Amino acid sequence: MIKEIQAKQLLSHSKGPDPWFGIQYTMNLYRGCPHQCIYCDSRSECYQIENFADVLVKTNALELLPKELAGKRTKGTIGTGSMNDPYSPVEKKYNLLGRALKIISQFGFPVHVLTKSDLVVRDMEILQEIDQKTQALVTFTITTHDDNLGKKVEPGAPLVSSRYAAMEKFARRGLRTGISLMPVLPFIEDNWDNIREIVYRARDAGASYIIASFGMTQRKGQQEYYYRKLDELFPGVRQQHHNRFRNDYICPANQANQLCEQYEKLCQQVGIAIKVPIYHALPPAKQLSFFDSIQHEANQGEG
Ligand code: SF4
Repeated sequence: MIKEIQAKQLLSHSKGPDPWFGIQYTMNLYRGCPHQCIYCDSRSECYQIENFADVLVKTNALELLPKELAGKRTKGTIGTGSMNDPYSPVEKKYNLLGRALKIISQFGFPVHVLTKSDLVVRDMEILQEIDQKTQALVTFTITTHDDNLGKKVEPGAPLVSSRYAAMEKFARRGLRTGISLMPVLPFIEDNWDNIREIVYRARDAGASYIIASFGMTQRKGQQEYYYRKLDELFPGVRQQHHNRFRNDYICPANQANQLCEQYEKLCQQVGIAIKVPIYHALPPAKQLSFFDSIQHEANQGEG
């Protein structure tokens, strides 16, 4: 179900750039996500989203955005794609992000897009324009190299192969793009064959970086859904998972440290960074006080 709503505020603000993607302002144009990944953390009870498959569309987002950007003193990175996929099929109809990017470009803010969809190719030109002014990064979440496994764990999202194809288009245009390799589902995706193949295909597609976390997190609400899907799709894995982690929040991949070392080594060999390039906004220009301007004039006269 798609429902149109009026939001009170669009951007949420963090103190400084976050260490993963360098995001300072988070922009969610939608609430809920039709990609329906079985591991999605946004189903957790703490977020109080009743039916995560329903999508709420913030139809006044494009009125709010310029007003909010005009009031920001620091031109920090605007991130989109944390509690929903900004390029889900709903965006095809509403084109909210495509239009929001034009506003972001006018205001001179950098942007980071996290998606599982090749629909982002539609906005390549405006993203390139932003990148010429500040920075635009498109990061594709890829947790398996295998389309068939992808269809099971991310049933509503475009195929993994189409994400690689989109990545290649961005790289060919000279835009930096990469992979968010997280989560890595224990007992399902945590094998070196999978990780190695993800890295090799990233290299072939021209990726600049892969940021990884070997394991997953689980919380109330999210865990129950994940368990139901494990029973349906991967018989026996729920029991293995439960025996190992019970209700732990952090569920590391099997051989997480070893996988991490191998991934870092391979990335180094093939020339892919293991960090996202962080954009550092210049501090806002200092407003000269009356006293400062008198001092300045006096100093000018000293030469
Ligand atoms: S794309 Fe992201 S927000 Fe959407 S269901 Fe998957 S994990 Fe959740």
